[in-house]
Amino acid sequence: MPRFDYQEVLREIHQEVQPLIGRGKLPTYIPALAEISPDKFGLALHTVDGQASHVGDSSERFSIQSISKLFSLTLALRLRGAKTWERVGREPSGTSFNSLVQLEYERGRPRNPFINAGALVTSDILLEHLDAPQDNYLDFMRHLSGIPDLRHDEEIFQAEITSAYRNRAMANLLKDFGNLSHAVDDVLEFYCFQCSIMMSCQELAASCLFLANQGVSSLCGEVLPRRKAKRVNSVMLMCGTYDAAGDFAFRVGLPGKSGVAGGIVAVVPGKMSLCVWSPALNEVGNSYAGTKALELFTTKTRLSIF
Ligand code: GLN
Repeated sequence: MPRFDYQEVLREIHQEVQPLIGRGKLPTYIPALAEISPDKFGLALHTVDGQASHVGDSSERFSIQSISKLFSLTLALRLRGAKTWERVGREPSGTSFNSLVQLEYERGRPRNPFINAGALVTSDILLEHLDAPQDNYLDFMRHLSGIPDLRHDEEIFQAEITSAYRNRAMANLLKDFGNLSHAVDDVLEFYCFQCSIMMSCQELAASCLFLANQGVSSLCGEVLPRRKAKRVNSVMLMCGTYDAAGDFAFRVGLPGKSGVAGGIVAVVPGKMSLCVWSPALNEVGNSYAGTKALELFTTKTRLSIF
């Protein structure tokens, strides 16, 4: 196996994706996200043996959006353990991240924790365990990333709550089916708060390091036992990019989790965690240039898990 100069690999990728940056669409349903320059691109990696490489806008913070679903599941598994799976499944949905249809058919049990319906259930579980949910969640993210000044963006937070028509409909359905124990407004607010946390590619790559190292982060020690970390990676591979999870596995070949602000984290088990950010999205809602960059990464390094 050849040894790679990762910094050089990232530089090459940055150059090769230049024509693709800005291709795709900015999301319009969250006004603050539609105002971000589509020309941004950042890419960062952290290896389990302590190397860090990054290029482009990798230190600029963006809202983590659905990448938070990964950390919420992690926290739920820490607090509630395997009982988490009594209320949410672990099958790919084959539908968009904010689809309502399947939830009705399947009587309020979301397919997985990485679509919105599933994350609303995870948020409800967390509310049962956290005394000061927003502060406790931020503390957890500060612990994982090693960055003490992580914050949410109040404007994005409020805008999401105001325009959460679909998420509210989903939360109402979940409540009706008996799969939410807290008030719809409380769950929705906590969910939107998680989405509005601001982090950079470098910070996100560092925060996912435990998933590359059997649950143990070199920054903050054991986050999950090995058997649970393995499972989070498997759910990421199958469900982390919604109805494009098959195509993402086909092209990139790594467990990954995307967000609608254009971030995608990915894990090379045993080796490293990565995060890419470019705000313009493909038709499924994943970063267009970001997906391509990760595909180039596994092609160049042969680090696909397959
Ligand atoms: N806050 C977004 C929403 O609830 C998150 C979705 C995403 O990142 N795909 O719609």
